[in-house]
Amino acid sequence: MHPFVYERPASLSAAVAVASRSATRHPPTQAPAQFIAGGTNLADYMKLGVARPERLLDLNGLSEPALRRIETGGEGLRLGALVRMGDAAENAEIKRRYPVIAESLQLAASGQLRNMASLAGNILQRTRCEYFRETSWPCNKREPGSGCAAMEGFNRQHAVLGTSENCIATYHGDFAQALIALDATVHVQGHNGRRKIPFASLHRLPEDSPHIETDLAPDEIVTAIEVPAGAWTRRSRYLKIRDRQSYAFALASAAVALDLDGETVNEARIALGGVATVPWRARAAEEILRGKVLDEAAAAEAAEAAFAEAQPRRHNAFKIELGKRTLIRGLLETRDMKV
Ligand SMILES: Cc1cc2nc3c(=O)[nH]c(=O)nc-3n(C[C@H](O)[C@H](O)[C@H](O)COP(=O)(O)OP(=O)(O)OC[C@H]3O[C@@H](n4cnc5c(N)ncnc54)[C@H](O)[C@@H]3O)c2cc1C
Ligand code: SF4
Repeated sequence: MHPFVYERPASLSAAVAVASRSATRHPPTQAPAQFIAGGTNLADYMKLGVARPERLLDLNGLSEPALRRIETGGEGLRLGALVRMGDAAENAEIKRRYPVIAESLQLAASGQLRNMASLAGNILQRTRCEYFRETSWPCNKREPGSGCAAMEGFNRQHAVLGTSENCIATYHGDFAQALIALDATVHVQGHNGRRKIPFASLHRLPEDSPHIETDLAPDEIVTAIEVPAGAWTRRSRYLKIRDRQSYAFALASAAVALDLDGETVNEARIALGGVATVPWRARAAEEILRGKVLDEAAAAEAAEAAFAEAQPRRHNAFKIELGKRTLIRGLLETRDMKV
């Protein structure tokens, strides 16, 4: 492992000050100082030589209590950045009022990982593309301009939506699909103060710079995630299809939240996972469902719209059909929920 200095700042302002002193114009993932929370993603990539920070700023010493708090109220849900995935997944109010969030976390990783991993770390986890993980392969995300081994390589796990000619890596997380479907907002604090970022603009499409993965500056710390209350949050679920029944990333997934009048859709919120380069909101599918009776035909029409722009590669064309079926099932199961 590349040698690094370890620090445990005592407050958000202290952490931001250290990060901003060494901040450069690099994106956060390539900055000399990087934040670590659970370490289940970053430490893995440090061991593999993919991440090589000079300074590691451990966020677990931060004293601000709100960073570890879950707050549910009439306005919505507020999740501190350092809340562990397992604690949010098992929170009774989240299960009752935001089942899609609880399920996306319950179905992610393993119990041990969920106990260690933080919510902010989860949304900022990096791709598991095999060629990204192995430093002997060309990879535009790891080494800008070096090429992409996945294009002509084994790309069964790779994305069919939001791809570019420079990168087709899937965004692997589950929780992010629930957040983008429910119009969450991310709170951050950096050298230039605090700001709120709509979750939908946090992750960047790969386009011609796949190494720039988010809208964050290198000295910005995610402090909280806010999810507004909505008529659709109770009738919501997360369906995840994977190679094994547990402890595996999604091949395809769907986060669905519905506001129904009988079987007619007032509002549909839909996001897709396992198939896209970033957390993926399926707005065309939502549009088709609005004002319609949600039956199998309407669900199938929405699924067609969701994958209309899909671009398959040699080994991953199956994800288009799998993704459509996952969405159809997700929609019908959410319709049939007893709330
Ligand atoms: C075997 C395995 C299986 C997995 N399966 C799944 C799965 O099925 N679904 C799923 O969603 N995930 C899965 N994961 C990923 C796992 O959930 C993530 O590794 C974890 O959520 C990351 O959280 P962390 O706190 O450990 O992040 P860290 O590793 O500490 O950090 C991750 C990134 O976030 C940054 N960061 C962390 N906190 C902040 C903050 N507050 N502000 C700014 N930047 C921050 C770090 O600098 C780093 O770049 C799996 C992981 C493993 C190893
Ligand atoms: S798909 Fe993206 S992450 Fe994977 S090798 Fe290509 S550039 Fe790298």
